[in-house]
Amino acid sequence: MFSVEFMPPRDADDEQLLWRSMRKLEQLGPAFVSVTYGAGGSSRDRTVRTTSRVAQETTLVPMAHLTAVDHTVAELRNVIGWYAAVGVRNVLVVRGDPPGDPNGEWIACADGFTYAEELVSLVRELGDFCIGVACFPCGHPRSVDLDTDTTYLVRKLRAGADFAIAQLFFDADDFLRLRDRVDARGCHAPLIPSIMSMTTPRTMDKTVELSAATAPTALLERLNPLREDPKAFRAEGIDIATELCQRLLAEGVPDLHFITFNRAQATVEVINRLGLLPADALETTPEAVTPETVSP
Ligand SMILES: Cc1cc2nc3c(=O)[nH]c(=O)nc-3n(C[C@H](O)[C@H](O)[C@H](O)COP(=O)(O)OP(=O)(O)OC[C@H]3O[C@@H](n4cnc5c(N)ncnc54)[C@H](O)[C@@H]3O)c2cc1C
Repeated sequence: MFSVEFMPPRDADDEQLLWRSMRKLEQLGPAFVSVTYGAGGSSRDRTVRTTSRVAQETTLVPMAHLTAVDHTVAELRNVIGWYAAVGVRNVLVVRGDPPGDPNGEWIACADGFTYAEELVSLVRELGDFCIGVACFPCGHPRSVDLDTDTTYLVRKLRAGADFAIAQLFFDADDFLRLRDRVDARGCHAPLIPSIMSMTTPRTMDKTVELSAATAPTALLERLNPLREDPKAFRAEGIDIATELCQRLLAEGVPDLHFITFNRAQATVEVINRLGLLPADALETTPEAVTPETVSP
């Protein structure tokens, strides 16, 4: 089973790209599509509008992200109410980062929340939602160590979350060890790995930034020599994503969550190579590789 993540579109061009990709991926039957939420509510209306369209105009199951940044509890109640009103029953609850500087000091909004765990409790209290939370195979950058990180993850799962989606990572073992740590605490909620094909140097750098891990030397040795050759870099990036997925599936991980940057092709290719494409799915001949298409 697989799912995909989109970002709410910023303008008309973005909107077109998003819906072209959404329709392409719809044919592959993802379990759900998630739509991110900009820090401080900057994308609030766009996230609500996008998930609403997914709920009302497609066969897809939407999942809306929600963050606590710069929102009072009253505002959060409102957003959750809007989600319910437009038919969104799945919410990915994340705390969020300080707007502007994700590594800056976290300052809780007056009358707001400090941790995702509190927002999980609120969403749980407000309705019959299916709730996901974030988890971090290499530890959250603000956590003192992996053990403490796992303790707080298990706390937020027990506060009412149904599953967790992992931050990007390079090494399958980091994800598998997180699964073991959570299991060892008697918590058996599903953890879903996030996969992003590193189809450009930019997406590779983004993965390094988000994972809070150093890219393995073996991986750098495969990708770095191809930095000036977009086509070869993309092909290698797809190979690497496919190999990571194959290892996870072989280790009994049943679900994969693909970060798309609102593009479909790389996800289609990886899913095809994993043999997860439905028999009646779209023609999977890769699009011509141009500077515009050399991204996820
Ligand atoms: C799958 C995924 C999707 C994401 N989607 C978005 C998005 O749409 N929009 C966005 O802005 N950001 C998003 N993020 C980023 C996320 O908001 C940041 O990574 C944020 O820094 C952490 O969010 P969290 O929900 O894990 O926070 P929390 O679970 O609150 O954890 C934050 C830190 O506090 C610690 N902690 C937790 N509880 C306690 C406690 N009770 N006492 C002391 N310490 C505690 C944790 O160990 C961690 O170090 C996403 C991340 C992931 C992995």
